[in-house]
Amino acid sequence: MQVSLLNLKLQYQGIREEVRKEIEKVCDNQSFILGENVKALEQEIAGYCNAKFAIGVGSGTDAILLALMAAGVGARDMVITTPYTFFATASSIARLNANPIFIDIEPDTYNIDPNKLEACLKQFTGRSSRFTVKAIIPVHLFGQCAEMEPILKISKKHKLTVIEDAAQAIGAEYKGERAGSIGDFGCFSFYPSKNLGGFGDGGMVVTNNERMAEKVKILRVHGSKPKYYHKFVGINSRLDELQAAVLRVKLRHLATWTNNRIERAKKYDKLFQDVGLTDAVSLPTARPYNRHVFNQYIIRVKKRDSLREYLAKEGIGTEVYYPVPLHLQECFKYLGYKKGDFPVSEKAAKETLALPIYPELTPEEQEYVVDKIAGFYGKANL
Ligand SMILES: *Cc1c(COP(=O)(O)O)cnc(C)c1O
Repeated sequence: MQVSLLNLKLQYQGIREEVRKEIEKVCDNQSFILGENVKALEQEIAGYCNAKFAIGVGSGTDAILLALMAAGVGARDMVITTPYTFFATASSIARLNANPIFIDIEPDTYNIDPNKLEACLKQFTGRSSRFTVKAIIPVHLFGQCAEMEPILKISKKHKLTVIEDAAQAIGAEYKGERAGSIGDFGCFSFYPSKNLGGFGDGGMVVTNNERMAEKVKILRVHGSKPKYYHKFVGINSRLDELQAAVLRVKLRHLATWTNNRIERAKKYDKLFQDVGLTDAVSLPTARPYNRHVFNQYIIRVKKRDSLREYLAKEGIGTEVYYPVPLHLQECFKYLGYKKGDFPVSEKAAKETLALPIYPELTPEEQEYVVDKIAGFYGKANL
């Protein structure tokens, strides 16, 4: 049996006619940039995320960059985030000549640990600092929201802009609130492997602040309004009509697909419990007030790399998110961090493994995956 980490072909089979019809219409219209599909998708995503405004942009990375720009982050500013995330969270900060400051994660959710926030702020604020802490980017990693309540409370006290990196968490909820609508900005990615993925790159910024929405809208078209009159130096980052057309079709299925992901996560949990593997394999945990949408199903194991190799030989695709925490990346050497600074992230980077999860995954495939993992640890005699 072959079980790939992700199989988008199966999803496409179910929506092929719908998608082709919409693409055809865009071709007939020959309006490719910021047309009616983008406008409609912006409204639909705002509705889905329970936010007032949504602005379609070129990618999830640009969504973060534009939110930071709108928040006024620039040189000599600092932005707090987690070292255990996709590179784009921190690179967007660095591209504005601001400095990322990292805070370690919680061991169970892999999200930024709010208990370490006050101490970090104490260290980096104060009169002697040449830099100002302007914002924080909590990441809703793997599809579960970060601990937003304390983050918002502390951010309010210190006047930090809160930018949610919700790239992996569309439809996730924290205490009944939708990911992206909780902080000042929410940033989404439509990279094909995300829960709502396009046929290429795409992204969206959502916000409840009209002034900020307007600013992002201007910044995505070179900072110009009206056309050819530039109030700011913006970037060129627009969602295109073809992507928006595809995404609108997919959005109609997102609720079902999300439920299917959640069901498959539950099924994995049960299978691991049934074979008595929960000693060797730590399962993902969701806080009771969180709706985890499982962009990834992440287990934590010993001998991770050997397990991964073994599963590959058995036809099972897995991935390591992420093998090198960001404070140890070569490009961030200048920040002055060293090994041992964020032990929880460093440990997670060595122990976590993403298993195949997608709405079309069958029970037989899931049983096969768990069987093979059980076989591996049986042999390894743990
Ligand atoms: C995918 C992702 C991004 C970047 O999105 P792109 O659309 O690929 O630019 C940012 N942050 C996180 C956590 C992501 O998973």
